[in-house]
Amino acid sequence: MSELHSRHRAVLPSWMPLYYESPLEITGGKGSRVTDAEGSSYLDFFTGIVTNMLGYDVAEVREAVEAQIATGVAHTSTLYLIRHQVELAEQIAELSGIPDAKVFFTNSGTEANETALLLATHARGSDEVLALRGSYHGRSFGTVAVTGNRAWKNSSLSPLNVHYLHGTDHASPAFRHMSDREYIDACVADLRDVLATASPKVACMIAEPVQGVNGFQMPPDGLLGAYKEVLDEHGILMISDEVQTGWGRTGTGFFGIDNHGVTPDAMTFAKGLGNGFAIGGVVARGDLMDGLPALGVATFGGNPVSTAAARATLKYVLDHDLQSNALRQGTTLLDGILALRELDSVKDVRGKGLMFAIEMADPATGAPSPALAGQVLEAARERGLLVGKGGLQGNVLRMAPPLTLSDADAAEGRDILLDAVRAVDAGAA
Ligand code: PLP
Repeated sequence: MSELHSRHRAVLPSWMPLYYESPLEITGGKGSRVTDAEGSSYLDFFTGIVTNMLGYDVAEVREAVEAQIATGVAHTSTLYLIRHQVELAEQIAELSGIPDAKVFFTNSGTEANETALLLATHARGSDEVLALRGSYHGRSFGTVAVTGNRAWKNSSLSPLNVHYLHGTDHASPAFRHMSDREYIDACVADLRDVLATASPKVACMIAEPVQGVNGFQMPPDGLLGAYKEVLDEHGILMISDEVQTGWGRTGTGFFGIDNHGVTPDAMTFAKGLGNGFAIGGVVARGDLMDGLPALGVATFGGNPVSTAAARATLKYVLDHDLQSNALRQGTTLLDGILALRELDSVKDVRGKGLMFAIEMADPATGAPSPALAGQVLEAARERGLLVGKGGLQGNVLRMAPPLTLSDADAAEGRDILLDAVRAVDAGAA
């Protein structure tokens, strides 16, 4: 164990995961690549933790941040006017498509979701909430309550009454004989049943358009739109958790929910927006936002440095039409690795834009194999590629390269992935 690794273990919680048997200390980054303390260079196909959506050391972002710091005001108070904050809010309100939208900035996705849940439960006067099985929404009391898997719950106590709905389980035995249309109809019938039998009044539904931590599991396009039609009949609000899916990553919409043909009442965001600087937030219908009495300031929410970074990041995304790049590179990459489905130890290969996943299974039993996924993670690193891992069973490799991905980097990452998975599969046979 390296010296820093053992010091980490001594003072940071034991439940904080670290990747790799010898965890990396990343000390530099440029474009799609990072270098570690030992001087090794890696192509980063997980962009930190889906945080550096433009890649590393982007001049436009760095200069915007440096210019803000040079004013001497890294932070003063959110009780004063902050120009970048107002301008960023204006831009996000407009991009969201939510009528009369207002924006509240936080420092993380957890806080953003917590705020959205507060807005919705307050507006409806109810603590009944709908969430999807397999979801992940954060680490706070409310967001843990709507997180649909025990593995990521640190408490079974809940400030909310949560009903879990189907969403990304269309490959499970109960549904796999169904077409997408039939599955959507079955989900909607189930929602109607829940509303008729379980709760007198439901506040909201919260859903990820592509479930991030759950291994990039995606509901069929249109499901969230079909859900919203029913919710609208009851005045139930919809919150789209765009923490992983926002800003064009899915390629087919600027927000993940665009794949479902519907505008939600609120969206939450974080991760990529500051290209590494901590920023999150909620964009919601103005009446919902204003309806929450005196939530007050978040001390660092929307601070001058993070909002400067976010303004520059968003400008870069739009100026370079990175949504189109996500679609193009994502489609080519997925096509390039689909052949892995033939391997006995690969259960599924799927993707949407620059979010794609490889699911590993035990070749003998077909059971999800976190061990094989761990081996691929290591094998890819040995070949110079960093990827993510996830899924309810920890058996899914997750790839979320920067939206700026070039043809050459895409091809290099694809070849390493093919090689790493094939090598692990050969060893597993
Ligand atoms: N929502 C989703 C979809 C996420 O993937 C995450 C983090 O992985 C969160 C919320 C929580 O965000 P944070 O870790 O910034 O609190």
